[in-house]
Amino acid sequence: MERLAEHPPWCERADCHTAGMHVSQPVSAGNANDLVGIEATLLRLDAHAMTLVQLALTDDDVTTVITVSGAQAEMLNQVLGKLLSA
Ligand SMILES: [Zn+2]
Repeated sequence: MERLAEHPPWCERADCHTAGMHVSQPVSAGNANDLVGIEATLLRLDAHAMTLVQLALTDDDVTTVITVSGAQAEMLNQVLGKLLSA
């Protein structure tokens, strides 16, 4: 029987154990008028209990997906905050 307590609160709880990871609902960072579409999704690998951030960048119908650690995503958040408030 599946132990729901294993899922992080943000997990969609869809096929996690088969995929070996928990996956959140993608969240759009922007709107249709932006030059580049950005969607952020949280991942947690079952084997490592490490949260990752997957960014899907779409430009001219071509999507590039990159995955960074949660720590790196937090650092990126701080760096961008500093740059934009400078
Ligand atoms: Zn899950």
